[in-house]
Amino acid sequence: MMEKTYLGVDLGGTKLLVGEMTEKGEILSSRQYPSGPLPQKEALDLICQSLEDYLKTGRPHDAPPPAALGVGLVGRIDSETGRWLEIEPGRDVELNAAEVLREKFHLPCFLDNDVRSAAKAELLFGNNSQNMIYLNVGTGVAAGFVVHGKLLRGGHSNAGEVGHTTSGIAMRAPCVCGRPDCVESVASGSGLDKCARILVSQYPGTKLKIPEEGRVSAKDIFALYGQDPLCTLLTDHAAQALANLIMNLVRFADPEWVVLGGGVLTDGFLYPKILERLSSHTVRFVKDNIVLTHLDPAKIGLMGACSNAILGLKTQ
Ligand SMILES: [Zn+2]
Repeated sequence: MMEKTYLGVDLGGTKLLVGEMTEKGEILSSRQYPSGPLPQKEALDLICQSLEDYLKTGRPHDAPPPAALGVGLVGRIDSETGRWLEIEPGRDVELNAAEVLREKFHLPCFLDNDVRSAAKAELLFGNNSQNMIYLNVGTGVAAGFVVHGKLLRGGHSNAGEVGHTTSGIAMRAPCVCGRPDCVESVASGSGLDKCARILVSQYPGTKLKIPEEGRVSAKDIFALYGQDPLCTLLTDHAAQALANLIMNLVRFADPEWVVLGGGVLTDGFLYPKILERLSSHTVRFVKDNIVLTHLDPAKIGLMGACSNAILGLKTQ
C-alpha cells in the first residue's frame, strides 16, 4: 500500500509552492507558481488555479488522493475555523478560505500563517520538542511558540508577533505598528533596508549600494562587514537586537529549544554574532539549544503547509 500523502500550498511574497509530502516529512513533488503582492481574494483564486494545475499535471495519475490539504498563508489566520482574517493589518477582507478549498477540492483543509506553519514542521520533523520557539527572521520577524506540544494562537490569532517588541537599539526607526525601534525595524530584511537609508547620510564613503527601487540586500550588508563602517554597524545592530529578543523570549516562555530560520539567518552569517551577545546566565537552561533550523530553508514553508494538514487531521 502506498504511504499516505498530504497536499500543501505555501503562499509567499513572490512565489507560490504546491507540493505533496509523506507522513515522514518527505516532499514527493512540488511545483512553483508566480505570485506577488495580491489582495486576499485574488490570492485565494491563485491558490485554487495552482492547485487545479498541480492535481491535473503535477502528480502521477494512479496516485491515491492525498489525505488532506494544508495551506500556509501570510497574515492573520484563524486556524480553528480556517478563516483568513487579513493579509496585512488594515487589509481585512475576511475569507472562509478553508471552506472554499474544501468544497472545491473535496479534501479536509487546514490553514495557518506561514511562521506558525514552519513551527509545526519543526515540531514534527525538526527537534520534536514540546516546548520550543521557532523564530523566523525574513522580510519581517515573527515566532511560533510551541507550548506543551501546542502552537500558541492567542485570542485574535495574532500570537507570535515578536518583531514588534523594542530592540534596545536607539535608531528612532519608525515601525508600521506605531512604535519606534522594534526588532523588525532593526533586524529584518525590511528593517536593515530602513536603517541603511536612515544612516547613509552619515557614511558618505560607504560601498553599500542603496537602490532607488527595491530593497538593500542583507547579503550585501553582511559581505561588507568589517570593511565598511555602515555595514558593520547595521550588522552589529541586527545581531544585538536579535540577541536581546531571544533573551527576552527565553525568559518569557522557558523553552527547551530556540530554532532560528528565515532568509536573513539561514546563510549562517549572523548566527555566531547573535550567540556571542547572549548573556550566559540568561540563557543558561537553553545555551546549547539555540540553533539554526536543520530543515531545508527552501522547503520548510511547504513542509509547514503539509504539517497543518497532518496535525489538523489528528486533532479533528
Ligand atoms: Zn513594530
